Amino acid sequence: MAPDAHLISRLQDICGPEHVLTHPHALATYRSDGLVQYRQTPLAAVLPATATEVRDVVRACFEANVPWVARGAGTGLSGGALPVAEGVLIVLARLRRILSVDLRDARVVVEPGVSNLAVSRAVAPTHFFPPDPSSQVVCSIGGNVAENSGGAHCFKYGFTTNYVTGLEVVLSDGSVVQCQRDAPGYDLLGALVGSEGTLGVVTRVELRVVPAPEAVRTLVAFFEDTGAAGDAVTAIVSAGIVPGAIEMMDRLSIQAAEQATGAGYRLDAGAALLVELDGPQEECTARFEHVLALCARAGARDVRVALSEQERALIWKARKAAFAAMGRVAPAYYVQDGVIPRTQLSKVLRTIDALAAQYELRVANVFHAGDGNLHPLVCYDAARAGEPERAEELAGLIVKACVDAGGSITGEHGVGIDKKAQMPSMFSESDLEAFHRLRCAFDPGGLANPGKVMPTPRLCGEVPGPYREHPLERDGVAARF
Ligand SMILES: Cc1cc2nc3c(=O)[nH]c(=O)nc-3n(C[C@H](O)[C@H](O)[C@H](O)COP(=O)(O)OP(=O)(O)OC[C@H]3O[C@@H](n4cnc5c(N)ncnc54)[C@H](O)[C@@H]3O)c2cc1C
Repeated sequence: MAPDAHLISRLQDICGPEHVLTHPHALATYRSDGLVQYRQTPLAAVLPATATEVRDVVRACFEANVPWVARGAGTGLSGGALPVAEGVLIVLARLRRILSVDLRDARVVVEPGVSNLAVSRAVAPTHFFPPDPSSQVVCSIGGNVAENSGGAHCFKYGFTTNYVTGLEVVLSDGSVVQCQRDAPGYDLLGALVGSEGTLGVVTRVELRVVPAPEAVRTLVAFFEDTGAAGDAVTAIVSAGIVPGAIEMMDRLSIQAAEQATGAGYRLDAGAALLVELDGPQEECTARFEHVLALCARAGARDVRVALSEQERALIWKARKAAFAAMGRVAPAYYVQDGVIPRTQLSKVLRTIDALAAQYELRVANVFHAGDGNLHPLVCYDAARAGEPERAEELAGLIVKACVDAGGSITGEHGVGIDKKAQMPSMFSESDLEAFHRLRCAFDPGGLANPGKVMPTPRLCGEVPGPYREHPLERDGVAARF
């Protein structure tokens, strides 16, 4: 039997033939993640149902010396779950059990395929899980852990890493390790969270949840432009107020989101600032009045205050729909993700505007304003010759502008395949070498999500791993990786 056929047959024995996909039609869904511009067809996609099956799948790949990529819900925006040709895609979607909920200890244990929102639902109404990516209805906790995902509430509450208290991980040789936050010894959790599936497959996650706040107050203020809204952000934060969330949308993203949701955002506004305060009732009420005054002082033309849970949900609906809504104003778009110091907001936004004009492309801006985490959405039409390349180049220059302003190439979407070429703009050769040595310690054979995160393939020891770069599929455009 050919080596590939032998591996497929083993995978079928482990997961059942119906959970091992090899036909090109069946694999079509799995050829890309949320970075849809790039695609690759794997040798097979397997859908194990239990942690034991995951372990056996990884072990089978190890024995066959075949690389693999873990995939949660496939909403990642940096190509982290892009399959490798000649490799196996391990889809965790069937591991979706909530294993235990202990509200006295504020702990939840889940399988990696459980969606982000399902965690908050499992502990409501007394508790919630703060990291809340806009994709939370579908994205998986395994993906959140691998990307160290954030969301609108991370300014106050922190990122996924602040909530992971334990992990079970299958390493690339099929061995299973347990890591606990409070255990003595090396902090392996710190290395694993945010490692983008390059150190192992997470099969069980223990999370901390927090008590739901006594009160929540939400408003959306409309400004002439992002500069004025930025002034309001600075004023709020300088006043010592730490909002649960403080999110900004510019004119183009307001228009797209409003078209998609009918949430009542003002179409004539140049910027919308969504501010949410939470905490004890009295403190929340007093600070909310202060925020209203600061918004007015910064030039807010109009402010809408949510007077009910339904109105709050509607205000959030527009913000959470902002990425997907861009489909209403452009046939295609790149979602960029960069971080800048908050004080550089106006300067970097002006640079983005100038670059957009130079490249004759539209860029919408949606961002977690408190963290300085920008999400410029670079619009293009793939049917117009040269536009995809121009959009990609522009997206790269926006990230460079973030780094030049003292920021980072990514805030929460990860490096994946999209940003790996930009890693040297942030890290020295010896920094990258240290990352590589860590990666080799976990995965000496180079089987776990190869070709991602690091800018160049490097050897772990003398023997090269089995991974070979293959051209990626892309709509009539040469891939850049
Ligand atoms: C509309 C939209 C809005 C978004 N908003 C946000 C946002 O506000 N904040 C934010 O941070 N992100 C956001 N994202 C990005 C994305 O949703 C997150 O990165 C999310 O955590 C990915 O989860 P997933 O289950 O889809 O992972 P996938 O895309 O399937 O995988 C992402 C990475 O995790 C690895 N991985 C997945 N599961 C495992 C596992 N069990 N073990 C080891 N590695 C694994 C994969 O190999 C890959 O490298 C958004 C995406 C979309 C499409």
